[in-house]
Amino acid sequence: MHDDITLTTGRAHRVLTERIWPAVHGTSVPLDVEWHVLPGEPVPPAEGLALAMEPYEVGTPWGPAWGTTWFRLTGAVPAEWAGRPVEAVVDLGFDVNMPGFQCEALVYRPDGSPVKSINPRNQHVPVADAATGGEQVELLLEAASNPVLLDYHPFLVTQEGDTTTASPRPLYTTRRMDLAIFEAEVHDLALDIEVLLELQAELPTGPRRMRILQALDDALDVLDLQRIPETATAARAALADVLASPAEASAHEISAVGHAHIDSAWLWPVRETIRKVARTTSSMADLIDRTDDFVYGMSSAQQYAWVKEHRPEVWTRIKEAVAQGRFLPLGGMWVESDTVMPSGEALARQFSQGQRFFERELGLRTHGVWLPDSFGYSPALPQLVRRAGFDWFFTQKISWNQVNVFPHHTFWWEGIDGSRVLTHFPPMDTYNSQLSGEEVAKAARQFREARHATGSIAPVGWGDGGGGTTREMTGKARRLADLEGSAKVRWEHPDAFFERARGELVASGHGDSAVWVGELYLELHRATLTSQHRTKQGNRRNEQLLVEAEAWAATASARTGAAYPYEELDALWQQVLLMQFHDILPGTSIAWVHREAVAQHAAVTAGVQEIIDRSLRTLVGDGDTALRANPAVFAQAGVPALGVAPASGPTAAPSTLTELPDGGYVLANDLVRVTLDAAGHVTSAIDLASGRDAVAPGREANVLQLHQDFPNKWDAWDVDRFYRNSVTDLREAEKVTATVDDGVATVSVHRAFSSSSLDQVLTLAPGSRTLEVSMETDWHEAEKFLKVAFPLDVRAEHVAAETQFGFHQRVTHTNTSWEAAKFETSMHRWVLAEEPGFGVGLVNDSIYGYDVTREVSDDGVAPAPGVPEVTTTVRLSLLRAPRFPDPETDQGVQTHRYGLVVGADAAAATEAGATFGARPRELRGGAGFEPLVSVAGGVTLSVVKLADDRSGDLVVRVYEALGRRAAGTVTVAAPVAGARTVSLIEDDVEARAVEVTADGAVVVELAPFEVRTLRFTRA
Ligand SMILES: [Zn+2]
Repeated sequence: MHDDITLTTGRAHRVLTERIWPAVHGTSVPLDVEWHVLPGEPVPPAEGLALAMEPYEVGTPWGPAWGTTWFRLTGAVPAEWAGRPVEAVVDLGFDVNMPGFQCEALVYRPDGSPVKSINPRNQHVPVADAATGGEQVELLLEAASNPVLLDYHPFLVTQEGDTTTASPRPLYTTRRMDLAIFEAEVHDLALDIEVLLELQAELPTGPRRMRILQALDDALDVLDLQRIPETATAARAALADVLASPAEASAHEISAVGHAHIDSAWLWPVRETIRKVARTTSSMADLIDRTDDFVYGMSSAQQYAWVKEHRPEVWTRIKEAVAQGRFLPLGGMWVESDTVMPSGEALARQFSQGQRFFERELGLRTHGVWLPDSFGYSPALPQLVRRAGFDWFFTQKISWNQVNVFPHHTFWWEGIDGSRVLTHFPPMDTYNSQLSGEEVAKAARQFREARHATGSIAPVGWGDGGGGTTREMTGKARRLADLEGSAKVRWEHPDAFFERARGELVASGHGDSAVWVGELYLELHRATLTSQHRTKQGNRRNEQLLVEAEAWAATASARTGAAYPYEELDALWQQVLLMQFHDILPGTSIAWVHREAVAQHAAVTAGVQEIIDRSLRTLVGDGDTALRANPAVFAQAGVPALGVAPASGPTAAPSTLTELPDGGYVLANDLVRVTLDAAGHVTSAIDLASGRDAVAPGREANVLQLHQDFPNKWDAWDVDRFYRNSVTDLREAEKVTATVDDGVATVSVHRAFSSSSLDQVLTLAPGSRTLEVSMETDWHEAEKFLKVAFPLDVRAEHVAAETQFGFHQRVTHTNTSWEAAKFETSMHRWVLAEEPGFGVGLVNDSIYGYDVTREVSDDGVAPAPGVPEVTTTVRLSLLRAPRFPDPETDQGVQTHRYGLVVGADAAAATEAGATFGARPRELRGGAGFEPLVSVAGGVTLSVVKLADDRSGDLVVRVYEALGRRAAGTVTVAAPVAGARTVSLIEDDVEARAVEVTADGAVVVELAPFEVRTLRFTRA
């Protein structure tokens, strides 16, 4: 027969879009509208509901950027609508494609109870399931006029991302505020057609597709386009057979979970996220009420806490739905944090604060870690996830890789210590599924473990800016439950999915073929290790200060009975954890967010400092003895770790400074000799014991390099590989001066370049093998990347970089596309290039990004004719200047501290990194004190604190930092009744009693990179 598939599909598309969807609310009457504009910060709902209103005409522009407009909608249901379902329909001036990225509203009843939210894909408000006719309707809308910052032409510079620069013009024009009959049968017909239309597009031309096409033609033939509600039932009847045909026995199974990935801040500030969460959860509670099987999952204890505090009416509905098992807390973390940059202690607190909230407020714990959207995953995570008591890990972000396709979807992810966690990436490659035919088919087609596993997860709903699942999506899920040619869809808790997946992986006997070892490196967004330096600096500083405060406060509690500041520490940690959210710490939010983050970090610093001062004062007592406190977990400056001792002078000989005839300088002490040229660059850094020079022959280290840096998209996120093609070395020094002060040799260098300038102070302290560089940059660049280069005379196959509770190694070559893609990678406090017998470390106090290149020359000169000379160049990433989403990113004065450690191995680098960011404090008081907790042997201390459960127990976390088996002791210098090993979040689930000797010591044997949490009961 003659056939024309496109004729049928084109017909169905047009009728569906232009006739059927509009007919869902085809019968309507306008509502009376009043409004009140609040251009500044929002007010609580009770105040908003009481505002004086003025008449408003639909079609009037409204909403300056970041303002709130309250609308009151009133009217009466027409008498002739009696018995029909009635809804209000509100179009605030939406662009239908971008829920969560523009204006949106929460709808209230006059008594202040929330109904649901309004967004581009969710414009209805239920009024009556069966109207009586004539009833009065009154609805109040809290409408947020958030500006569109990521448009069809994305990544353009915009000033709308901060209230201090946004324009006051109204951004939106309302189109519709009506009462309408909801034609349920027309809605069902629309979904029938949409599901079939999308399904057939994914099918080969064969019997199933052709029967669907014929059914669509048959349905459209009986649909009267002028009388759609009256003929919808007949049209649906024509589709009934093709919709009733069941799925194949081996069809892929999709475990759908309602979702709205709500970024805790991004293109909106935290205060708007609080409202976004309230809006989305209101709608989800409404959808749960109107369905039987739909489940909605939401992560981030912080978001629950916001609703509880700011929207108690919504909180009540969430609690009810959680109790019914329909609203599913996911993830167990305080926020969906970045996992590459936070410290080990911070990740432990993401889990402990998250789980404690869920337990306290909702009476449950979550069983997996849900992180669909952060930018790469640390290889320390499998151990931390398991030791925190979680069974599974979920993300999809690695599907964004620029180069390499990840080989698994359901697999064991193995970390640096060998811990494995069951991990799933949805093969749909999205955390915002619409359950479209294309997405469903993609999941089935791409699923990599199909040989022995049956299904995958689909997070279903509008996300990023919230919105969540729609009734159209639940309608599609119903049709896709068991449909020939499609994967099968069912709503399901991710826990149930993971339990089944685990069984399938184990039962298949092929589980070991689905293993990924090491970091989940995201081959994209590499510049998130550098953008918004002050935000990162605040994070590193406060992570260290909080751990210090806990140690002094625990010591003060044990020694003097001082009250432990549980509430204060919880509140301060929660602030830091919030700012580790995956668009804040990575530096990818609008100016407003980062302005607040920097201020918030300063406030946290002040708060923590207060605890530190108070605790130390209590401990040292009154007096005027010069004392020195060591906040580091390694001894330094003559003071044991976490102890306070009388301040003593330097024990090592003073460092010396010699001026060279060419204008350069030599800085030397007992351990190293560093030579600088006249421009302040390091031409040599010799380890006196071995005679080895850290700097490659004929090269200069500590050279600042400025790159053009204009990525193809995602400006704050991305640095593209071609950035290396253009570089300017900042070799000119305007001024170089040198001094020896108190036995410390110092050289100061001032450089001006482009529109910026910088000052460096290079210091060699007595007895130190670290050349320290303190740097202040007055940064006024656009689309530039500043690095500092260290060409090292080290033939390193790998470079080691610190991560949480240990380090991982990355090869220095680019043999495969996987290695070549890692041209910018992460570290914590140190990175180390080492060959057997000699290594060079670089330590820092607030840097997270670096890159490594290797060069080989066999010019016949060095080290001997015909012997290749391998240079490993490590470059630290200092500053960037992207212009989206914050057009002024990192402008102004910036500070950095980093150091070159000459002659180091992993142990030395670990110690140097730990002390570099935790310098001794000078104070005055009565007397010093011995540390409350000390460790010996191959055990590294992470934290000393009191238990979260406020029992007064002492919690000590230690780890093996070097990747080897180790034994050591942990000694508590206070009366101890007993000790046991507990989970990372201090649970007794895996508790094992540990023997304590009479002098309070516990013997600890650790596996490579093992993290052990000990809990001591006080005698
Ligand atoms: Zn996100």
